Amino acid sequence: VKSILQLLANADLRLTKVRKDILSIFIEANHAITTHDIEKYFEYLDRITLYRTLKSFEEKGLIHKIIDFQGNASYALCTHECNEHKHHDEHLHFKCDDCGTTYCIEDAKIPHINLPVGYSIKQARLMVNGKCNKC
Ligand SMILES: [Zn+2]
Ligand SMILES: [Zn+2]
Ligand SMILES: [Zn+2]
Repeated sequence: VKSILQLLANADLRLTKVRKDILSIFIEANHAITTHDIEKYFEYLDRITLYRTLKSFEEKGLIHKIIDFQGNASYALCTHECNEHKHHDEHLHFKCDDCGTTYCIEDAKIPHINLPVGYSIKQARLMVNGKCNKC
């Protein structure tokens, strides 16, 4: 795992307390987290700063957004393949019905999809729900 300093430097972002704090939660968690989770950790954070920070992390290829079947968003740390030009998070996302946790299953890649002539894919997402190995 890369250090917070390395991650921010690679993303061309200056080190600030907010960025460091938010990134540390992502590094500690081995699953996706919601804005609600982050707000619970840091009471000093206002929503605007939080959303702005997440947006810049997403734009710089540090985290990716996951939308579940209910339309709720969570965010997870990207792999080293992502950068500010392109995300490469074409893996399965698993949401547990019991604990509500969303996981990146990086070993499960989105399968190749055959489309009729004339169609091209810009982005593909794969989301499943069920029971995780901790429940
Ligand atoms: Zn990514
Ligand atoms: Zn679970
Ligand atoms: Zn993911």
